[in-house]
Amino acid sequence: MRNRPAEWYDAWIVTRDDDTPRFFCDAMHGGLARWLRAAGYDAAFAYGIDDADLIERASRTGRMILSSDGPLFDRNVVRDGAVAALYVPRGLGKLDALAYVLRTLELPIRSPRCMACGGALHEVPKHSVIHEAPPRTYRSCERFWRCARCGKLLWRGTHWRRITRKLAEIAP
Ligand SMILES: [Zn+2]
Repeated sequence: MRNRPAEWYDAWIVTRDDDTPRFFCDAMHGGLARWLRAAGYDAAFAYGIDDADLIERASRTGRMILSSDGPLFDRNVVRDGAVAALYVPRGLGKLDALAYVLRTLELPIRSPRCMACGGALHEVPKHSVIHEAPPRTYRSCERFWRCARCGKLLWRGTHWRRITRKLAEIAP
């Protein structure tokens, strides 16, 4: 499950298992993509992607575009609503941008997804990660999760708690 090429993510979801929106962030919004994932949303992001490519990939994968690029919204497919897109005001910090998206689309904060890739997290038995988790973490944490998409192992450490606290601050 590890080290899949970035392109593979696009092909991952052809059908949707519920109505939860999925996103494709423009090249400026890598930070927003990561925070959306922490808030439980599958958000794709590609460095240096141009508008045409962004629109094509969002359309192909049924994702809503999040962008602060004015001209993108003048493109026909976006203006006609063939591809869903939300304008994110320029100059917002990552968390403010996240708060803006959640508020505008009336979305709750959900169970976290992998911040690295947006994949779903599945709890794994503690004993199965004994050779993988750092020894101190293994001793101090009881529960572990693995990303179904990139294979990353997660636990509720300091990093996770800090993120949860920040999400609680901006919860709509
Ligand atoms: Zn992942």
